[in-house]
Amino acid sequence: SPTIIWFRQDLRLSDQAALAAAAQAGPVIPLYILDDESPRQWAMGGASRWWLHHSLASLDEQLRAKGSRLILRRGRCVDVLAQVAKDSGAQVVHAIRHHEPWWRNAEKAVARQIDLRLHDGGLLLPVEAVRTGGGTPYRIYTPFSRAVMLHMPPAPPQPAPQRIDAPLHWPVSDRLEDWKLLPRDPDWASGFSADWSPGEDGAKRYLDSFLGEVGDYAVARDLPSQEGTSRLSPHLHFGEISPAKVWHRVAQAPGDATVYLKELIWRDYAHNQVWALPTYGSENAQPAFDAMHWRDLREARGDWAAWKQGRTGYPIVDAGMRQLWQTGWMHNRVRMIAASFLIKHLLIDWRHGARWFWDTLVDADYANNSVNWQWVAGSGVDANLFTRIMAPLTQSDKFGAADYIRQWVPELAHLDDRVIHDPDFHGVRPASYPEKRIGHREGRERALTAYRQMKG
Ligand code: FAD
Repeated sequence: SPTIIWFRQDLRLSDQAALAAAAQAGPVIPLYILDDESPRQWAMGGASRWWLHHSLASLDEQLRAKGSRLILRRGRCVDVLAQVAKDSGAQVVHAIRHHEPWWRNAEKAVARQIDLRLHDGGLLLPVEAVRTGGGTPYRIYTPFSRAVMLHMPPAPPQPAPQRIDAPLHWPVSDRLEDWKLLPRDPDWASGFSADWSPGEDGAKRYLDSFLGEVGDYAVARDLPSQEGTSRLSPHLHFGEISPAKVWHRVAQAPGDATVYLKELIWRDYAHNQVWALPTYGSENAQPAFDAMHWRDLREARGDWAAWKQGRTGYPIVDAGMRQLWQTGWMHNRVRMIAASFLIKHLLIDWRHGARWFWDTLVDADYANNSVNWQWVAGSGVDANLFTRIMAPLTQSDKFGAADYIRQWVPELAHLDDRVIHDPDFHGVRPASYPEKRIGHREGRERALTAYRQMKG
């Protein structure tokens, strides 16, 4: 009887332990289930769906080149797996382990019905593989990172299986087009294709093109005006490339890769935190923050809309929010600035911001998004202090964001480097660009007062 490989956020053929195990066992049914029920409020957002569509098309193409194909089904994954297994006579399902709470629940439910074999490969190290001297999971990034480093490099990546045998009968499959994952009326993703090529081949190309820049990464990664980062985040989220493969290729590239490899460990760290605290995306990791008086979203709706649309009057924030809307991605330094601005200057609950990112990022990832938002908010297990309030205008200047602003905020493109970070202050703000929603000092004071009240 055939074996099922259940693809989720691991849409690749190479270094895919679940696929390798299935292929070795005989005929294989490659299956992807679009499941909007199990994740409930964490069903995939719009930008991720755009990515998923193209990634699945690419995976199907790769499988066909090996004489196989991708079966698409929609519904609760537990039910669909049981049905496909029953219809095809499959007795075993192979899958890579994932750490989001809804996947953990689904894995448990599936395992009650069928022989589910879970494999590692989503992270550099299996979740909770490293522990403190006291035997507990690490909560703080730096010691976690040091402990992971002791186990590096990860096992060498494995090539794609030579053969993927087809079953005698293919189960029925949905048509990808019928899932309507791509936006229409309006097609807000029309700009995405210029920036991205979802799928395993695209991931390899992005990695290859980054290898020459590894040596510059430590400095360039903080400069939004340069393309100094790898842009692998959506590929890593969808598992189109394994972190182990990224590790090995980057570590062998010319230049010191340490800073980059540590960022990659942040990803492992975030997934470990979500494993330890599954509600990380919806609840403050530090319960003290439950007493924080965030502004009511109805009362703050003008500010909330301005933030989403990139019309706050802070050029660096607006450039970031527009880059996000137009490309589905935002530079990490600017993510920090924009998130901090929402949480502190506008005093809006981090959960609203995280949800907006969830819907608009092509790399939206439950662990990375939740842990980073709570890091900025100060409410995370290992977080920045709330009282350390980023000054967006200073940050913009310090990290040389002038060209970045020119690219994403065309109303300001004619301004020179000296004045572009704060056109209001220099009296050069064009009528088409909004005034600041709130002054830096005023916003900062309001945030600090709210924090003091929270502390009681
Ligand atoms: P590079 O600098 O090339 O880094 C390589 C890889 O390391 C990334 O692809 C990513 O997988 C990992 N990485 C880097 N920084 C981090 C980090 N701080 N935390 C976890 N992993 C990291 N990243 C996501 O993948 N999905 C998200 O939903 C997400 N939401 C974020 C929200 C906020 C408020 C902030 C401040 C950061 C968020 N990040 C998220 C982390 C980071 O901004 C992105 O991973 C990074 O910008 C992706 O670009 P890159 O691939 O060029 O990164």
